[in-house]
Amino acid sequence: MKNTAIQCDVKSCEYNCQDCNYCSLESIKVGTHEAHPTQCACTDCKSFKLKENCCK
Ligand code: SF4
Repeated sequence: MKNTAIQCDVKSCEYNCQDCNYCSLESIKVGTHEAHPTQCACTDCKSFKLKENCCK
């Protein structure tokens, strides 16, 4: 079931609603891999999980 409060188009994620651009989780955690994030690309969805049998 899509969560319309969380838009996401990462199709390789287990939790992505594949026929729409939403996450199916109730909530997600967002974090960073940078010491001092300054732009969008510095942020990550920490709830991401690689979809099974994806990208092989
Ligand atoms: S867990 Fe993160 S990456 Fe995966 S569908 Fe939800 S928002 Fe997108």
